[in-house]
Amino acid sequence: MTVTDPRPLTGEPLSLDLLNTRWMSDGEPRDLLADTEGLAVWLAAHGLDGRFASDGATLDRTRTAREALKALVDRPGDPDATARVDAVLEHGRIRAELTAEGPGERVEFAEPAWGPGWTAARDYLDLLRTAPDRIRICAHEACILHFLDTSRNGTRRWHSMATCGNRAKASRHYARTKDQ
Ligand SMILES: [Zn+2]
Repeated sequence: MTVTDPRPLTGEPLSLDLLNTRWMSDGEPRDLLADTEGLAVWLAAHGLDGRFASDGATLDRTRTAREALKALVDRPGDPDATARVDAVLEHGRIRAELTAEGPGERVEFAEPAWGPGWTAARDYLDLLRTAPDRIRICAHEACILHFLDTSRNGTRRWHSMATCGNRAKASRHYARTKDQ
């Protein structure tokens, strides 16, 4: 089954991409993780479909991880949000290993349904280590997308200049003309 990813923004780091499974379309909230078909699309987009099943349990755990990450992105350092993300991380364990290909590590899950959500939460730890001040939500008031600001000066405000950036410019212009 090939289904194209319907989302307006893809390609962000896994943790932010998990948050971007929710977006606004013509003022209506959309959710790729509304069902297991959408979960399958999301897993395939990240090469996780071979490792994890797109079943109801995985959908449930992945949505729980998404809620925890969303709480932490909205309130960085908040103890409750921190504990929620930590609780997701508790479901996986990293085992150092040596194989014929050399040293590596393998993640073990008591319950594989936590795999995708755990992997996203671990990705968020990488962002916290490397670029915590570059985690952004799109500045447009009607947009809920997240991105990692990789611009040189760290001044990116919109998930997309072509859509949200222009919409914001247009509404500022409208507000000005209205005032006059
Ligand atoms: Zn936006």
